[in-house]
Amino acid sequence: MEDLKSVKIAVQTTKFQAIMQAKCPRCREGKMFEYPASQVTKFDKMHTNCPVCNLRFEVEPGFWFGAMFISYGFTVMLLAVIGVATNVLFPNASVWAYIIPITVVSLGFVPFNFRLSRSVFIHFFGFINYEPNRR
Ligand SMILES: [Zn+2]
Repeated sequence: MEDLKSVKIAVQTTKFQAIMQAKCPRCREGKMFEYPASQVTKFDKMHTNCPVCNLRFEVEPGFWFGAMFISYGFTVMLLAVIGVATNVLFPNASVWAYIIPITVVSLGFVPFNFRLSRSVFIHFFGFINYEPNRR
């Protein structure tokens, strides 16, 4: 009879989960950011190295510059969605009915946009292989 305590089930984090949770691309366990996105004054504070596998997140000097292009893409998508929604809901609205919600929502999404764009960028453009047993 098999001892149930000796059975280990390896639960691996998928790349998608790691990106959405801003986890390290190499071990998919260590968090990239020190604080949750809800802490508005500290949402951008990153660990220099992964707390689990010690990967240096800024792969090369200026690496995060590329994440701005991802962030730009997310912002454009967000603005398009808000603009279309405003147009559908209020067909005869003035230009301020577009500017105000777009400004408020895009500013509100800054912490999420910032973190998600960096996470996407390091996972797809960091060229770091997933090593599940790396400690
Ligand atoms: Zn790691």
